[in-house]
Amino acid sequence: MPEAVRTTCPYCGVGCGVLVTRDGERIKVSGDPEHPANFGRLCSKGAALGETLDAEGRLLQPMVDGRTVDWDTALAAVADGFKRVIDEHGPDAVAFYVSGQLLTEDYYVANKLMKGFIGSANIDTNSRLCMSSAVAAHKRAFGSDTVPVCYEDLEQADLVVLVGSNTAWTHPVLYQRMAAAKRQRPVMRVMVLDPRRTATCDIADLHLALKPGSDAFLFNGLLGYLQRHDGLDLEFIERHTEGLDEALAVANGSAPDIAAVAQACELSEAEVARFYEWFAQTERTVTLWSQGVNQSSSGVDKGNAIINVHLASGRIGRAGMGPFSITGQPNAMGGREVGGLANQLAAHMDFDAESLSRVARFWNAPRPAGRPGLKAVELFQAIERGDIKAVWIMATNPAVSLPEADRVRAALRDCELVVVSDCVHPTDTSELAHVLLPAAGWGEKDGTVTNSERRLSRQRAFMAPLGEARPDWWIVTQVARRMGFADAFPYEHPAAVLREFAALTALDNAGSRDLDLGPVQDLSDAAYGAFEPMQWPLDNAGRGRQRLFADGRFYTDSGRARLIAVTPRPPMQTVDHAYPLVLNTGRIRDQWHTMTRTAKSARLTTHTPEPFVQIHPADAARFRVQQDGLARLSSPHGRLLARVKVDTDQRPGSVFVPMHWSDANACCARVDSLVAAHTDPVSGQPESKHGVAHIEPFNAQWHGFILSRRPLELGFADYCVSIRGVEHWRHELAGESPPPDWGVWVQEHLLGPGEWLEYADPATGRYRAARLQHGRLEMVLFVAPDWGLPERTWLGQLFAEDHIDDMARMSLLVGKARGGMPDQGRTVCSCFNVGLNTILDAIKNQGLVKPEQIGAALKAGTNCGSCVPELREILARAASGA
Ligand code: SF4
Repeated sequence: MPEAVRTTCPYCGVGCGVLVTRDGERIKVSGDPEHPANFGRLCSKGAALGETLDAEGRLLQPMVDGRTVDWDTALAAVADGFKRVIDEHGPDAVAFYVSGQLLTEDYYVANKLMKGFIGSANIDTNSRLCMSSAVAAHKRAFGSDTVPVCYEDLEQADLVVLVGSNTAWTHPVLYQRMAAAKRQRPVMRVMVLDPRRTATCDIADLHLALKPGSDAFLFNGLLGYLQRHDGLDLEFIERHTEGLDEALAVANGSAPDIAAVAQACELSEAEVARFYEWFAQTERTVTLWSQGVNQSSSGVDKGNAIINVHLASGRIGRAGMGPFSITGQPNAMGGREVGGLANQLAAHMDFDAESLSRVARFWNAPRPAGRPGLKAVELFQAIERGDIKAVWIMATNPAVSLPEADRVRAALRDCELVVVSDCVHPTDTSELAHVLLPAAGWGEKDGTVTNSERRLSRQRAFMAPLGEARPDWWIVTQVARRMGFADAFPYEHPAAVLREFAALTALDNAGSRDLDLGPVQDLSDAAYGAFEPMQWPLDNAGRGRQRLFADGRFYTDSGRARLIAVTPRPPMQTVDHAYPLVLNTGRIRDQWHTMTRTAKSARLTTHTPEPFVQIHPADAARFRVQQDGLARLSSPHGRLLARVKVDTDQRPGSVFVPMHWSDANACCARVDSLVAAHTDPVSGQPESKHGVAHIEPFNAQWHGFILSRRPLELGFADYCVSIRGVEHWRHELAGESPPPDWGVWVQEHLLGPGEWLEYADPATGRYRAARLQHGRLEMVLFVAPDWGLPERTWLGQLFAEDHIDDMARMSLLVGKARGGMPDQGRTVCSCFNVGLNTILDAIKNQGLVKPEQIGAALKAGTNCGSCVPELREILARAASGA
């Protein structure tokens, strides 16, 4: 067996270690048992990484204005284009929009070019959308962007409070670690604060379905409660903090007692009291938060309201306790380290005179940026106005992911020069580029990432870059040289970049800044190759630190942590007659960002194949939308179509729509086209968790699906979603206009060699057709006036067969699985491809009552564990006969 390459998962901020073995064309991926983030575990996305590495959908060659060119031509086009705009309009007329998908080395070089040599700070990152509010909250409280805790704290805590975080789906391995710790130590309690009941509630002892946006009331109330119930650590407060009196006065003014909090949060007084009692009584408490808190027009204040209760109770810097903002992306933390945010300099320095001078001196920068640049939303608004005339977008898809995404798309369409470097093409954003630069993908590039507990790990290459793809640090370096900055960009290897960055973190840093990677500046290339995961800050011997602030010393001028007075503010948008529902957006279990990689894996697409809107039954009845039907959502900014999922887990008055779908795989399903570009005034993070929307039934005159061995262009349908299956593509379709004559349409659009089977019933609007060639199924089409169409799973399985037998041929147009061929139903367990019907049969026939028994019988839930909450739900429904 070839030796495994140790690398790091490129998806979420848990930063799991991955072992990759290559045997010829076969690539095997497994969890690294020695990596301290995951100890061998992987979630469904990580486990499917090996299925995302082929050339399909990859950008393989540089392109300028739609023509394939060589690297020299493309790099010159970028350098000349940027130079021209800078010469004519100044450095603030250009911008970079980068990504938490970049490696630290890529990020550092891009930031250095913009802030040190172009002379603008117009470089911002898509991490602005995910955790910039937490960054600002950290800096206000600690004087530095410091995550004080580590993953072990979540296992050692006696109470874990999860705020606005569906950890089971968004950070699955960390969730599994908590679940395992809770099994071993039943005294440990978990609380979920979330308007929705999510899969994470599977391990919750208490779920508070608070009113969307009301978190600051809840934590302000807790601060006052701690004061009234002897829960303050007066010694810690006296010695190590400042601002308590003002924070308490404002907290008590806005949330004077439990009754007031319950009313503001739309909870019962008993629920609020229970939370407060648990928190007050449990010293070892970790409060973990993520996008549900951050993606708010008052996300920074909410973060500080959470940090306040930890400072006031002295629960920070010790095992099993502390405030913990978890990052969404694999290298969001690395981006923060190197200054990927427009309002930071590299190495956790700000735009103060001393830091500016230090960084400029270190870089020998001729034209350092003197002030913060534009944050993501402002940056694209500047492009829209024409103030920014050239933008370079690296490894991200803002035409899908930024709020008011239609405006973003229009702005890019009108921009003079749009450069996109990415490993995939086409995307909604790359389609708008004048220059396309093929970037190396995961497995092809070398560098470092930092996970949510400040742990640096290596991503290592285990295959040659496909086509002419190159690492991002190399691409930026080449452009910098062509812009005249060759002396400052001498890099030939990513290790050289990391060494330089590490030296900057150590410069004039005798403990005055939290981020210190000093010993890394002396790392040889060989040592870089063998780099073991380590947590910053590093001491002189290269040893990392698990927790910060154990000594009660913070990075503020006074050395004290600051409690911040938080006045709760309502979300920017409120529901009204025209838009009566709150719109919440977020992630689903098996997809990542805009699906450019995860949608390549058939087993990841089967759990949730279509965009959906989750709605409470009372709202579904009120707005006349039905389970499995289609609905149209609209806001003042855009509209979308999605499949309806009626669910009591959803809070009445609000709907949830996932963020993943784009025009690349669906028509009219980009939820960020509905989200307003309202941002937090301090962090600039958009309020993606609280939009407003109207919902109505989509009155389709026909519904259908096509399974085809090749992907099809089906722009004629109002609703169309393309989904990767095993050896086929599935296209879900629906139309509001009268359907075409299907027999004629098939002749015109789907004609191909082989044998056609056809069934038409014009009177009922039903049409079915299939094409076989050399005994293999090539395509099958079903159309009906309603959505009660045959199950797709067993039909899809026929594409893996070399020969369709007579029984299968007969069953094809009947729409029922042939005798003996089980229809396993919708996939529940992606790791072992176990479907809902298979699980229901086993429950019924074998009398299963626990997820562990399902695991023993079918293996479902025994690998990554991400589907265990769903298995428990299926068992509960089966037991109740629902
Ligand atoms: Fe990757 Fe899953 Fe680990 Fe996140 S939890 S790093 S997505 S394997």
